[in-house]
Amino acid sequence: MSHTFTIAILGGDGIGPEVVAEGLKVLRAVEALLPGVRYRCVEHSVGAGEYLRGGDPLPAATLERLKEADAILLGAMGLPDVRWPSGVEMTPQIDLREKLDLYNGVRPIRLYHEAHSPLKGFGPALRPIDFVIVRENCEGLFSERLTPRPAGRDFETDTMKITRHGAARICREAFKLAQQRRKLCTLVDKANVLPSMAFLRKIFDEVARDFPDVKTEHVYVDAMALFLVQRPHTFDVMVTENMFGDILSDLGAGIIGGMGMAPSADIGDEYAVFQPSHGTAPTIAGKGIANPIATILSVALMLRWLDHPDAQRGAKLIEAAVESVLSDPANRTSDLGGQISTTQMGNLVCQALT
Ligand code: ATP
Repeated sequence: MSHTFTIAILGGDGIGPEVVAEGLKVLRAVEALLPGVRYRCVEHSVGAGEYLRGGDPLPAATLERLKEADAILLGAMGLPDVRWPSGVEMTPQIDLREKLDLYNGVRPIRLYHEAHSPLKGFGPALRPIDFVIVRENCEGLFSERLTPRPAGRDFETDTMKITRHGAARICREAFKLAQQRRKLCTLVDKANVLPSMAFLRKIFDEVARDFPDVKTEHVYVDAMALFLVQRPHTFDVMVTENMFGDILSDLGAGIIGGMGMAPSADIGDEYAVFQPSHGTAPTIAGKGIANPIATILSVALMLRWLDHPDAQRGAKLIEAAVESVLSDPANRTSDLGGQISTTQMGNLVCQALT
């Protein structure tokens, strides 16, 4: 008898629906190969488009429906011209992280082919790039972004909030992940300058004592920006606060071919959202050229997370298919310098699933 998982699908705005369509195509192909598990996909409208239609980018009733799903697959949300009266863009994907307490932001960075990387040809041959950024998603420098501010002041502040509870749980997740990988966990902080970061380091060191098999190191965030260009192959799992993780994720994506190559999972104790790390890329939306690999790999992360052997097998099949397709440098979308379209890339991955 097969088990059915309900997946909430949030295509969102810009290229979101285009890349999600390819992710779903791959999900259906995997389902056909591994019938022990079925995926009931239910679409919901969330994002800037939904705001224009109904006045709320993340309606409360939709949020309740999302909580009933086993997992959430999200494309991308927000459009540059659709803003709150305060001037900031709508970011229901960030609201979701906070409302569902998805504190564990998992961002795998893996280079599939040297041809994808702007680091090729720089010094000796590229070594394999394969690390994971674990980003704290619910506090840090984003913590007071929604706090109302008095109008008319001639200053603004944003608070870097690190709590013992928040720091300990994210460090713990990073160490657990490192145990399943190459057993190195790097804390990225700014402990030489900011007391909040010195506090984060203290908690990291405390948690480390429970994982004696994992080697640890501390790297300042500015140095990490340098090292990610100079020696990205030396990292395994790195853990950091919200904003640093946001910035380093884009840098990580940059060295493996761009935003279209970087999947992500935002995981809490009850819920999880899987989405490409990129935004809505409005300048290429509707052209059929967006790279769907980040979304397809996010589907694999989702299957890894769902608790069923056939879902786990499905995740491995997708990852192997992506690896096989991308091992041929002819198989590149335009962001990687190739000519493969969004749907062609989805089809190639489906064909490689065996
Ligand atoms: P956000 O603020 O939501 O992160 P953004 O506009 O800053 O969005 P992205 O939408 O991620 O950033 O786009 C950054 C750059 O990467 C743009 O040049 C965009 O066209 C490109 N890009 C992003 N995703 C893809 C993709 N899947 N395929 C091809 N190019 C992409």
